[in-house]
Amino acid sequence: MRASRFLISTLKESPSDAVVISHQLMLRAGMIRKVASGLYNWLPLGLKVLRNVEAIVREEMDRSGAQEILMPAIQPAELWQETGRWQKYGGELLRVKDRHGRDFCVGPTHEEVITDLARNELASYKQLPMTFYQVQTKFRDETRPRFGVMRSREFIMKDAYSFHVGQESLQEEYDNIHATYCRIFDRLGLDYRPVQADTGSIGGNASHEFHVLADSGEDDIAFSSVSSYAANIEMAEALLPKPEADAPSQELAEVDTGEHKTIEEICAFLNIEAQQTLKTLMVLAADHSEEQTKLVALVVRGDHELNEIKAEKIESVLAPLTFATDAEIAALLNCNTGCIGPNIQNEHISVIIDRAASVSSDFVCGANINGKHLTGANWTRDIALSSVADIRNIQAGDPSPCGEGVIEIKRGIEVGHIFQLGKTYSAALNATVLDQNGKSAVMDMGCYGIGISRIVAAAIEQNYDDNGIIWPEALAPFTVGIVPLNAHKSKEVSELAEGLYNSLKEKGISVYLDDRDKKTSPGVKFADMELIGTPHRVVISDRGLKEGEVEYKFRKDKDSQNVKADDIEAMLL
Ligand code: ATP
Ligand code: MG
Ligand code: MG
Ligand code: MG
Repeated sequence: MRASRFLISTLKESPSDAVVISHQLMLRAGMIRKVASGLYNWLPLGLKVLRNVEAIVREEMDRSGAQEILMPAIQPAELWQETGRWQKYGGELLRVKDRHGRDFCVGPTHEEVITDLARNELASYKQLPMTFYQVQTKFRDETRPRFGVMRSREFIMKDAYSFHVGQESLQEEYDNIHATYCRIFDRLGLDYRPVQADTGSIGGNASHEFHVLADSGEDDIAFSSVSSYAANIEMAEALLPKPEADAPSQELAEVDTGEHKTIEEICAFLNIEAQQTLKTLMVLAADHSEEQTKLVALVVRGDHELNEIKAEKIESVLAPLTFATDAEIAALLNCNTGCIGPNIQNEHISVIIDRAASVSSDFVCGANINGKHLTGANWTRDIALSSVADIRNIQAGDPSPCGEGVIEIKRGIEVGHIFQLGKTYSAALNATVLDQNGKSAVMDMGCYGIGISRIVAAAIEQNYDDNGIIWPEALAPFTVGIVPLNAHKSKEVSELAEGLYNSLKEKGISVYLDDRDKKTSPGVKFADMELIGTPHRVVISDRGLKEGEVEYKFRKDKDSQNVKADDIEAMLL
């Protein structure tokens, strides 16, 4: 590619709203541009990298034996009603109506559509196992889109789904895809770890996430200091011994005196920061189900471990808050997302929610509290869980759940997730085949996702320096960059540059020639080349050519080296 014919939209300064390095560098290098919250244009440079990720994922998925298909981005509500997720999925699901008033959603994932396809196309165990995958645009109306394409609303995912008769066959394919993912992330040149993950609300038997290790990651990964144990911290916490049942909630009883405590007193009592108070209380109040103990365990920790908080007790904590001023409520919310579950019969809760919703547009609350419809149904248990994600009851130095060593915690970016779904979706959609005995059998399913667009950002989080991006070769938009100096003055320089460019291009090397005219200074050309992260840089100048040499620099190295002009092409091949 010739720089004179290529959209180079580099920026000197990083825009103020970009907080993580990958977001800053993707904007500065001219890879992406924001269209609206969580929606991005991919510019030519960025798209090249995205396509490189996609190509490797496709090659390895094909190699695994999976078959590529393409499902629609828009999905009919009926399928989601059949599995019950039309009601359950919550605010991340973008629901739309067509001109006839029929309900659809923009797919955040495709279990419903693929299971519908499978129930129609698969008839016999003899056809199984079978795995399908697609590379598709997904839409999730994330509560807090952020970090550029790392957590956007529209993004590209590779999602795969496998169908089986029996758990054994599912386990085999799960292992096959696990190995495939390792090959993919190895080829992408990323430092990653597969970690045990909580199967959460989907249920099923086994789940692993693939995390790229980086400080900017939103997940905490628990490692054992001595063994290969690695688990998403939620999983590690779920395995911890449960606190003693029925421990008296004495501290809480102290508040339960009918006195109106101040917010500071409540905070001191719960041993939490003021800004976490309201969301904490909201989570305490959220969902009186079997999840409650877990939520409570997540939010109340340390000296104030309370095992179970009953609705009346929650009320006693919330009651004083009804007397808080608007400013106090706003300070408590502090842009955090509060959350509350359905069917809560508590006047204080509804008052506080009304107040919270009125002082912060960022506040999401559920429907049908005391029969009162507060918003569209935005409630999700996931929001509750994510809003307490930063409050942990497992800490570095605790004994590891694997029994060996102590816990070490590192941050990770979730780039892939594999799941044994079992029969959750196939049973709901009645996806059956005839088994060996001629009997109808509900199929077992696995599902396997990779965040294609997130990987681009995650790769940068691991590969950059003060000058810009340092692409792993497999991802680089261009492998070689050629910078001729003063080519307009020197025929030798321009001829060698053009010759090298054409010859490398013919040999299938992705090469970038900075042929911009003299209005673009050498300094700018160098800076752009470093910023966009081309792994191999060749500078051709009159001065060098006098000695028969050009200057070569590997992006990862600090210094350049002189190479005989006659040898440079062979060296780059
Ligand atoms: P997260 O925990 O980060 O919200 P998730 O667990 O909701 O991700 P999955 O449903 O497991 O995501 O989807 C498979 C993959 O899609 C994820 O591992 C991730 O790489 C990617 N992904 C999910 N949400 C987003 C998003 N908002 N933007 C970009 N990529 C995403
Ligand atoms: Mg998510
Ligand atoms: Mg996740
Ligand atoms: Mg996931």
